[in-house]
Amino acid sequence: MSTSSNTFQAAVMRQKGGPLQRENVKLDSPQHGEVLVRIVATGMCHTDMVARDQIFPLPQPVVLGHEGAGVAEAAGPGVRKVAAGDHVVLTFLSCGQCRACQEGAPAGCERFNDLNFSGHRHDGSHALHDHADHPLNDRFFGQSSFGAYAIANERNVVKVRNDAPLELLGPLGCGVQTGAGAALNALKVSAGSSLAAFGSGAVELSAILAARAVGATTRVVDSGSLTYRRYRGHTLTVQDTNPVSRRSAWHPGAKYMSSPLAARGSSISATHEDKPYADQYLARRP
Ligand SMILES: [Zn+2]
Ligand SMILES: [Zn+2]
Repeated sequence: MSTSSNTFQAAVMRQKGGPLQRENVKLDSPQHGEVLVRIVATGMCHTDMVARDQIFPLPQPVVLGHEGAGVAEAAGPGVRKVAAGDHVVLTFLSCGQCRACQEGAPAGCERFNDLNFSGHRHDGSHALHDHADHPLNDRFFGQSSFGAYAIANERNVVKVRNDAPLELLGPLGCGVQTGAGAALNALKVSAGSSLAAFGSGAVELSAILAARAVGATTRVVDSGSLTYRRYRGHTLTVQDTNPVSRRSAWHPGAKYMSSPLAARGSSISATHEDKPYADQYLARRP
């Protein structure tokens, strides 16, 4: 899999709302700074659905997918971080040169939209083409991982141990860092404090695990289901309690809260000021 004549299958979205249909596609060889990755597993994130529904517009047809994990197959000129055979996880792309990137905050990269949502490389070329050689929009979060192969950039490829389970690592590229980042960087959850997470996806569970890692003594998950009891310690699940108990789980002390709705539109926007929202949420739930 090193020339554009090779074909494989990818999930192509040709119209708003989907479907994401399997098609035979062709991929370029990696160019300067790029890495060809054989995708072993990829997560499906709410943002893929937001893109499918064109809540933020993307050029179509497009290949989505932004929680890819796999094996580097080849590297273009100039790539030093990984080599063929390395196991890797893919994340969003950033420029590495703007002020935000230089300050260690690549999620705020000034070129974020261009690099992750334009559907093509900076020079306007596409790495992906369909069976009729028509260009497909790619580079979704610098990867478009809903396919058997993807082209990423050296900057958004992270090498992992070869014995790590690739089928579990994809969400590190988005959901895990979103949730953990909300707890650690945005909310700055501290030892001895408390966090309530509303939801039980990768984002909320990662926020809870990060809160545990920094010593938050009370962590509450309003999940509705799930095997959260596996995480012992002082993490509480409020799924089986009545509304009064749920309220009491929040009111006495949850200093911080993480919720998918509060975080909509930004990976790190959930703050303790969302407490009024939490009250509404709890009042609405049966
Ligand atoms: Zn995501
Ligand atoms: Zn940047």
